[in-house]
Amino acid sequence: MSHPISRRDFMKAGLGAASLFAFGSPRGAAGTPLRVPGRAATRLKVIVLGFDGMDPKMTGRWIQEGKLPAFERLRSMGAFRPLATSVPPQSPVAWSNFIAGTNPGGHAIFDFIHRDTKTYFPTFSASATEEATKTIRIGNTIFPLNGGKVRNLRQGRAFWQVLEEHGIPATIFKIPANYPPVPTKQRTISGLGTPDILGSYGTFQYFTTEPQEIHEDIGGGQVHQVYVINNRVEAKFPGPINSFKKDRPPVEIDFKVYLDPQNAVAKVVIQDHEFILREKEWSGWKRLRFSYIPTQSASGICMFYLKEVRPHFRLYVSPINIDPADAALPIATPESYAVELERKFGPFFTKGLPADTSALDNGVLDDGEFLEQDAFVFEESRAMLDYELDRFDSGLLFYYISSTDQRQHMFWRLLDENHPAYDAASAKTYGGVIERTYKEADALLDHVLGRIDKDTLLLVMSDHGFNPYYRSLNLNTWLRRSGYLHLTNDFKQEDLDIGFPSTDWSRTKAYGVGLNSLYINQKGREAQGTVEPGAETDALAREIARKLEDFTDPKTGERVVFRAYVAKDVYTGAHSGEAPEIILGFNRGYRISFSSPLGRVPREILEDNSSKWSGDHMGAAEILPGILFANRAVAAENPALYDLTATIMAVFGIDKPKEMIGTSIFKE
Ligand SMILES: [Zn+2]
Repeated sequence: MSHPISRRDFMKAGLGAASLFAFGSPRGAAGTPLRVPGRAATRLKVIVLGFDGMDPKMTGRWIQEGKLPAFERLRSMGAFRPLATSVPPQSPVAWSNFIAGTNPGGHAIFDFIHRDTKTYFPTFSASATEEATKTIRIGNTIFPLNGGKVRNLRQGRAFWQVLEEHGIPATIFKIPANYPPVPTKQRTISGLGTPDILGSYGTFQYFTTEPQEIHEDIGGGQVHQVYVINNRVEAKFPGPINSFKKDRPPVEIDFKVYLDPQNAVAKVVIQDHEFILREKEWSGWKRLRFSYIPTQSASGICMFYLKEVRPHFRLYVSPINIDPADAALPIATPESYAVELERKFGPFFTKGLPADTSALDNGVLDDGEFLEQDAFVFEESRAMLDYELDRFDSGLLFYYISSTDQRQHMFWRLLDENHPAYDAASAKTYGGVIERTYKEADALLDHVLGRIDKDTLLLVMSDHGFNPYYRSLNLNTWLRRSGYLHLTNDFKQEDLDIGFPSTDWSRTKAYGVGLNSLYINQKGREAQGTVEPGAETDALAREIARKLEDFTDPKTGERVVFRAYVAKDVYTGAHSGEAPEIILGFNRGYRISFSSPLGRVPREILEDNSSKWSGDHMGAAEILPGILFANRAVAAENPALYDLTATIMAVFGIDKPKEMIGTSIFKE
C-alpha cells in the first residue's frame, strides 16, 4: 500500500494532527464508553485475511512451483481467483471499495491526495484535522477553549457498521483507510492512514557525526549533526508542534549518549530511560512523554537502533508511534481495545505503514536493517492474530498484514535485472526477499488453516497486485508541453516549490494532483477556473484522455498510460461528481513521478526511477488485480473488491444496503 508519501513535501502539506495533541485527547465520537455487542445474533464464523498487495501472477507461479503449499491447499478446498481492484489501484481507494461495498463514487476516496479547489494545494484525502476555533492567549501561551477534531473523510457506511445494526459482532484489525476509526461498538483498530506523533505519515530521526549525511532535503526523516566530546553525545529529540506556544515550536527532549571508550557499545539516557545498546542492536520500544505545558502532554513510543559507534556515530530512531496505552489521537474502538492489546503485548506499532521505507530509501537503514525492522512488524502481526483467533467464536474477523506490500515496494529492484536500481551484489543476498515474504504469508495461512473448524468461512484477499516501477511521468510537465498548463515564468521552472507556485491559472485548462488524478480547471469549482462545466469540460477530458493513451515513451517505444479513464465512465454513486475528471491507469513499468503529484512542473516529461522504491501498483486496474482465495466453491468468475462486501452481507443473511453495488461470489 503506499507510496513515498512521507517525503518532506508531504509533511509540509501536513496532516496537521500534531496540533491536536495540544487539546488532550480529542476522542470525539469514539470516546463514549462502548459495549461490544453481547449475545451474538449468529453462530456463523467468517475470517477475512488481508495481505496487502499480494499479486495473483506471482502467487500462481509459486503455487505451481510448490512453494506455497497452504495457498495450494486453500485453492483445492475452494477457489483462487484474481480479484478486480479499484480505479485507481491505490490502497486507500481499494480498501475503501471493500469497506463501503462501492466504487470511489460511493466512498469519495479517489486518490491518496486530493486538492483544495481554492488554492490548488494538495491535501490528504483520508482524514482532516480541525483545530480549536476559540482560543485565549495569556502571555506566550495559547489555551484552546473548545476541542479540535480529526475526521475520517471516507463516505458511506463501513460493512462492520452494517453488521453491528444486525447484531453481528466483528473485529477489524488494522484495515487501511479507517483512521480515525468510524464510530462503532465493534472492536476496531486503525491501520494505514494512522499518523505518527508528529502528525506525519512517518518521520524518523537520525543522529550522526558524518557531515556528508546531512542533506537538507531528506524525505520522511530529520537528520541531526552531532559531535562526540569526551565519549559523549548530547542532542535534542524533536517532538510534535507545541500549539500552546505562540510560535508553535516543536516540543524537544534533551538526551545523552555515553560511548564506551573501548568497545562498540553505548548507553542512551533519555527521560527516565537508561539502556545499553551494542552496535547494530535495536532497543525495543521506549516510551517518551512530550510536555506542552505543565498540565498537558502526549505520549509516544519509538525504537532506537545503534547503527555505528566508531569511526562515525550513527543512531537511528524510528518514527514516534502513537502510544496505544495512552493514545493522544483516536486509533481504536472502543478506546479500551488498544489499551487491552498493549497490556497483553506491550507497546506495538500503531503508525499506518509500520516499516520505515523512507529510512531505507534514504540509505539511513540498509536492506538488512530494514528487514530486521519489518520482521518485528510481521512477528507482532502473527502474535496478535493468535490472540484474536483464541477468542473468536462468532461473527467476522478481519485481519491485515502490511509486510507483503512494503517489501514488494522496496525489493522489486533486486529480483528484476531490468530495473534501473538493480544491484547484482545486493541481489545475491536480497533477491529472494519477495519470494520469501510470500512463503511467510503461506506459513501464516497454514497456521490459520490449522486453527479453524470446517464451518468457518475463510477468505484470503489482497487489494491489488504489483508490477515494476521503471520510469516516472511528470504529468504536469506533459500537460504544459501539450498546451494545457502554463507557467508565469518558464525560467524559474527548476526552483518551483510544491502547490503550483508559478502556474498561470488564467491560461491553464488542466492540472494533475495526486498519484493518478487529473482535473480540468473548471469555472465555478476551481478558484481560477477557465473551462465551462458540462459539455466543454467533458469534451476536453475526452480529448486529453485520448492524447494520454496515444503518448509513447521515446526511450522504450511503449505507451506510458495503458488507460486514461474518464470518471463518468467508471464511477457511480452519490459522490461521483467530486471525482477528478481523468484517472490515469499507467502501463506496466510506469508510474507518476515524486514531484508531479504535489503540483510541481519539472523540466523532463519522463525519468528513470533509480530509487529503492522500485515496485508499485499505480497502473490500470485491468493489469493489477489482487488475489482472492476461499475455502468454499466460488461461483463468480470475475469477482471485485466490492463483491466481497456483498458476500459478507449475504453470508450473514443481511439484505444488502442499497448503496452497495456488488454481488455475492457464492451461488445463492
Ligand atoms: Zn503499496
